[in-house]
Amino acid sequence: MSEKENKMEKIVSLCKRRGLIFQGSEIYGGMGGTYTYGPLGVELKNNIKQLWWKKFVQDRINIVGIDGPILLHPKLWEASGHAEGFGDAMVDCKECKKRFRADHLVEDETGEDLEGKNEEMTKIIKEKEIKCPNCGKVNWTDVKDFNMMFKTQMNGVEGDIFLRPETAGAIFIEFKNVLDSTQQKIPFGIAQIGKAFRNEIVASNFIFRLREFEQMEIEYLIRPQDNWEPIFDDWLSQQEDFAMELGAKKEDLRRLEHPREKLSHYSKKTIDIEYNFPFGFKELFGLAHRGDFDLTQHTEFGNEKLEYFDQESGERFIPHILEPTFGVERSLLVALVSAYTEEQVGDPNPEDGQRDTRIVLKFPKKLAPVKIAFLPLSKKEELTNPTKELFNQMQEKFVCQYDDTQSIGKRYRRQDEIGTPYCVTFDFDSLEDKSVTVRDRDTMEQERVKIEELENYLTEKLSE
Ligand code: ATP
Repeated sequence: MSEKENKMEKIVSLCKRRGLIFQGSEIYGGMGGTYTYGPLGVELKNNIKQLWWKKFVQDRINIVGIDGPILLHPKLWEASGHAEGFGDAMVDCKECKKRFRADHLVEDETGEDLEGKNEEMTKIIKEKEIKCPNCGKVNWTDVKDFNMMFKTQMNGVEGDIFLRPETAGAIFIEFKNVLDSTQQKIPFGIAQIGKAFRNEIVASNFIFRLREFEQMEIEYLIRPQDNWEPIFDDWLSQQEDFAMELGAKKEDLRRLEHPREKLSHYSKKTIDIEYNFPFGFKELFGLAHRGDFDLTQHTEFGNEKLEYFDQESGERFIPHILEPTFGVERSLLVALVSAYTEEQVGDPNPEDGQRDTRIVLKFPKKLAPVKIAFLPLSKKEELTNPTKELFNQMQEKFVCQYDDTQSIGKRYRRQDEIGTPYCVTFDFDSLEDKSVTVRDRDTMEQERVKIEELENYLTEKLSE
């Protein structure tokens, strides 16, 4: 196993051990591509969404948010083109009945990206006698398109209802309502965070490729005649900045422009921002120039003209749209991969010369699921009572944990593993000097702080 695969395995096991992420429906044998976020995972995920919402909605005057429904009118998917074709090419192994992404099988074998060319892929899979990654046999069906939308029904509505495969649709169709109910003037954006569902042919790489996930998307409206390129570049930089706020290093990010022949007919430019995951560079976020495609289509299929009226110039036009899109779980995976650190600590063991390994999640402080742990040095009530009192006071301000189990060393290690930036230890001296020891997660340095100054001290440290 390579070092990178090993790192991924360690992260998956840490996530389970410490209550960050569990396989979905595990006691029934699991459901691929679904996960439960445990007590700490849900905090981490919320922190990521809050960071995004603050950066892109609350801190900006020209972006507003909505929260649209998952269940949307069947006509929307006709207008957007999803009903006709939203999916990937699949191929089934006739021996073991496993299903695979045909483009991935071909790309792994030849290095060529033949997405969209089903006949060619069928030929290559047969000619090159590509083996089934599951059973090793060579007995394939032809390559076929597979629609990844989950289908359901709804009382009172004719036609198929789909669980939305992306959040954007709800934004396009609310364009008029947002415009009429706010004072926004072009250029402006509408943002949304919400669930999306894709019946991925193969769910893989932990929380990278899921069947149920969350997206954070912005539809940014500009004038058709605007010089869009600098605006597009600015969005790219902001997306990269966000990745770095999650902990990504600049050298682990790269831009991949979609070649002309793979661009949707309406798109002037699409760029994927890729991150160097332990399983290779893969799409983290995307940015697309969608032209007037969406608003034109929804105007045609719906009952309302989705136009913009410019009061100053008296012009009416359909705005063009730039779409920066972000995956919540891929962001979370970047945060985990960037934070995961193993350090050798302490003196070498006299028997084998080995030092202890300390596992630390060095999350940016803003993302840490727990900010401060309160630890009495011993289980004696004279220490636990005042520590609990301190914990109760601070809990109103910060997300805190109280822990009085096991040795102090073990408790520090546990907090390191979940990325808690500060541990506050209350010892026997604290009763006399009214001070506590504050331990820093990254440097492991300890500082004595007066209890009456603790709140200010921690507020300052956590905002660094
Ligand atoms: P990929 O090429 O990896 O399948 P995509 O190009 O289909 O991704 P988009 O349609 O651009 O992805 O979706 C926007 C964002 O939503 C992606 O950049 C990614 O962060 C996230 N995303 C898409 N599909 C999934 C999935 N199956 N699981 C988790 N996140 C996803």
